[in-house]
Parts: sequence; structure tokens; C-alpha cells
Amino acid sequence: MKATPTHAAAAEEFLKDEERSHWHDDTLWHVRSKRDVAAQKIPEWESLRTTASQIKDNVLSNLDQLLLQFEKNAIENGIEVLWAKDADEHNQHVLRILEENQVKNLVKSKSILTEECGLNHFLEDKGYDVVDTDLGERIIQFNKQVPSHIVMPAIHLKKKEIGDIFHEHLGTDAGADDPAYLTEAARQHLRQKFIQAKAAITGVNFGIAETGGFVVCTNEGNADMGTHLADLHIACMGIEKLIPRAADLGVFLRLLARSATGQSITNYTSHFHRPRPGKKMYLILVDNGRTNQLGREDFRNSLKCIRCGACMNTCPIYRRSSGFSYGSTVPGPIGSILSPGMDLKKHSSLPFASTLCGSCTDVCPVKINIHEQLYKWRQVITKEGPSQPSKKWAMRFGGNVMSKPKLFDMMGNLARKSLSISPRGFVYNSFNAWGKHRELPEVPKESFKEWYRKNRKQ
Ligand code: SF4
Repeated sequence: MKATPTHAAAAEEFLKDEERSHWHDDTLWHVRSKRDVAAQKIPEWESLRTTASQIKDNVLSNLDQLLLQFEKNAIENGIEVLWAKDADEHNQHVLRILEENQVKNLVKSKSILTEECGLNHFLEDKGYDVVDTDLGERIIQFNKQVPSHIVMPAIHLKKKEIGDIFHEHLGTDAGADDPAYLTEAARQHLRQKFIQAKAAITGVNFGIAETGGFVVCTNEGNADMGTHLADLHIACMGIEKLIPRAADLGVFLRLLARSATGQSITNYTSHFHRPRPGKKMYLILVDNGRTNQLGREDFRNSLKCIRCGACMNTCPIYRRSSGFSYGSTVPGPIGSILSPGMDLKKHSSLPFASTLCGSCTDVCPVKINIHEQLYKWRQVITKEGPSQPSKKWAMRFGGNVMSKPKLFDMMGNLARKSLSISPRGFVYNSFNAWGKHRELPEVPKESFKEWYRKNRKQ
């Protein structure tokens, strides 16, 4: 089996196109700025974040009870509830439901969980026509890609590229890249798919234990269109997506859209409680590693995530290297603390794909201490083995130098002397990617310690 490239190796590929990397950086920063404006308009923003964080703490501490309450209420509402311990069991449930109901065509609204479970490929291999109806998801489905962002799945593509994809798959005019024209073409195309589909699959943003109902947020109304037209609705939900009461919902809805895109609220916030007469509704509750994460004291609060994407939009590494560099369903800072819990060896480079600047933690609407968890994962990875030997050696060497003052002074002296007499190519060469875009500051003649000793009396 082909080894997964490290984040650095995958990022190098993306960074070969410097113009795209800058454009990607600017685009995401624009979204981050819109988030800031939206947050600053709410005077109680920080207390909302604190409340959301505390509600989620409560959920994680009482997850077993709340899940049972949620299941009981959902069943009483007439929803068939299924449990899936992993991705395979989830996919098998969906397959069985489709077989029992003799459905071959289905539409899907955006669901990171079904991406995580690889549902599309699983069903397509078995001859099902699965149509993603979120515009960004449909674009990348045409382009045979996975989402590069959890809220804006096609954010890595430019208008012109989308125009070319639509020309190939939908027959739009060659070279046309007007967003209104392309969106209208997608609307006409998807309308047919909605009409033909017999089943609609959605994700779940919030499950409400108190009522057994759940909420799906979209900006395009595609979840509503799909579920209203189809005979059966299959909702797939990670077990951490619970909130205790309907009254808690307002806290999260106010935070979610503002953090994600700077909107006050998502265009469609749809509440589902029971199947309509003559129709069926299924709810699949998926674990897939979540209880393991819940059991890791240092990392359990990563399960508070409401998937707003704000930590990606602000992360200098994500913005410059794109979501594909992470090789995981959820990229960016939150993906880098969730994915090692799923497969430590495969994702061992991700916690190192961070400057630890803490901006992700600052913007997170549920106050997950993301940068601290990135740092903790680094410690676990270094201790448990899968980090690169060269990195381990360098860290051991650095630790040794820094823990011995005399050695530290000596090495500093040596570095200053050798840097001031070395030819430029010694530092700026093809082995030193760091130096490609940066200049070292001028090398001082003495260390700070030496300067301080001389000057402290003055
Ligand atoms: S970790 Fe926080 S900021 Fe990142 S996607 Fe989740 S909720 Fe949003």
C-alpha cells in the first residue's frame, strides 16, 4: 500500500504553484475577516463562546445518558434509529436501507461524516447513483476530488476552473465563468436529480436530546429540497453532535454561521422531528473512533467541534498549504488533533503542521484549546515513535544544548562566527526551504547575555 505523504511533502506540491498559494491565502483570510466583523457586532460574543463551551462540556460528561434520551425520543417520534460502531457498519446500514426500500438514485447534502465513512465510493461501487447537491460538493464530485475545506469544499478552485468543469459535465458555454450563469446551470441540473431521487441523505449539525429532533444547516436549501421530495430520509450523525435542550440551540446557531462565513445565520436552518405521513426517516448514530477520543483526557474536548471551519480560515499553515496537504477528511488545526486519534502512524505529521500561534484557539466558537492539543500530540508522537528520526535527533540535540548554559553560549558564539564568515550559499541553498523567501537578520557581534553584562550598570 502506498504510504501517505507527510503534510510537508503534500504542501510542497501545492506550493509549487506560488500564485495559487497566495490566492488561496488571501481568499481564506477574507473569510476570516468577515468572521471578525460578524463577531464584533455581538457584544456578548465571548460569553456566548463560554456558554457553548460549557454546554458541550456537559454533553461530553453525560454523553451516554443523553444519547439514550435522544434515541428514546427519536423512536417515539417515529424515526428508526440505528447505531454504527465504525464507518463500515454505517455504510452497511445505509446499503440495507436502500436495498429494503428498492432505491437506486439518491441525493446527498453536505455531510463530513459520510466523507469520513467513504460512503459515496462504497455506494457507487455497488451501482448506486449518488448525487451531491451542495454546489461546492457537486463541483468536486465532477472533478473527482475530496473536499479541501469542511464548509467550502471547492475553495481551492478558481472561477475559471469551475467554468471548465461545468462546460465538460453540464455543457455550459466554453470559457464562461460568470458565477450567476454557472449557478443557474447547476440549479437546472440538480433540479432533475432532486425529482428523480427516491432517498435523501443528510448530515446532522445538532441532535437535541430533549426532543429527539435534529437540525441541519445549509446555505442552499438543498437538504430541504432533497428530504421534501424523496420518500425516505437517512440522517447520519456523529455521536458528539448532541445538545441537551432545544433552548441551547440558539447559542450554537448564533455562533456557527458567524464563525464559518461571517453570516448572521445560515440561510436554511431546518428542524426535523418525524417522518411525514407515508414517508420514512432513519437516523444513524456513528461512533467511528469518537468514544476512544472521549477517553483521551488531553484530547476529549476536540469532540466539542461544531465544524464551523474558522480554525482553518485563520491558520497560516492551512491558508498557504490548502486542505489537501492534510490527507484527512477534516483538515486544518482541528483535523490535526482529531486525525492522529484515528490513525497515529498515518497522521503523525499533522500536529507538526502548525506554528502554535494559537489563532485557531482564539477563533474557535466552542473554545477548544486546539494549539495546546497540537502540542500534546507532538509529545505523544515523539514518545511513541512515529515521528521522523532526524527530527527526534535534532530535538534531542537542541534540548541538550539549551539545558547546558556553557554549551549554549559556546554554540551561540560558534553560530555567530561561522554565519558572519560563511559564503551566502551556505545558508541560502536548495536544502534550506526556510531561506527561500526569508533573510536572516544581521548577525550580532555579541550575544544578548554579553551585551547585558556590559550594559546593566548604566
Ligand atoms: S475546532 Fe472550533 S473553530 Fe475549528 S471547526 Fe471546530 S468549532 Fe470551528
